[in-house]
Parts: sequence; C-alpha cells; structure tokens
Amino acid sequence: MKPNIHPEYKLGTVRCACGNEFQVRSTIGDMRIEICSKCHPFFTGRQKLVDTTGRVEKFMRKYGLDKKNQEQKAEAKENA
Ligand SMILES: [Zn+2]
Repeated sequence: MKPNIHPEYKLGTVRCACGNEFQVRSTIGDMRIEICSKCHPFFTGRQKLVDTTGRVEKFMRKYGLDKKNQEQKAEAKENA
C-alpha cells in the first residue's frame, strides 16, 4: 500500500438496538445500528419487524392512519 493515503482500518464494536454486539474492522470504528442478523426477520424467520425508533408510528401519524392518535386529537379538541 502507498503510505500516508489510506485511512486507519480499525477494529470497532457494532452495537445493535436488540442488544447484540459484534466486532468488525472499518474506518469508522464503533457503530450503532438498528437491525442486525440476530434480529432481522429474514434471519430470524419471524415476520414481525422490530420497530426501534418509532418509525412505523411516525409513518402512520403522517398519513393519518394512527387511529389512537386521531382519537386523542379529537379528545383534545373537545377539551380545549
Ligand atoms: Zn439486532
């Protein structure tokens, strides 16, 4: 390799939202991820997706599909 042009290729710990940890070499170092091979439905065989950051709820709210939220909004309006 040519000297002084390559980034450091270091060992970093990858932490998943499910609690799984493993080590990889990369230029980034430590990483936090939302899904890994231990919890992704493709590997677990389960159909249920792990929603770690509330993105499903956010989507539902954005498109007004969150019934619970709509009811709460209606209640809040009545009370106001
Ligand atoms: Zn995981």
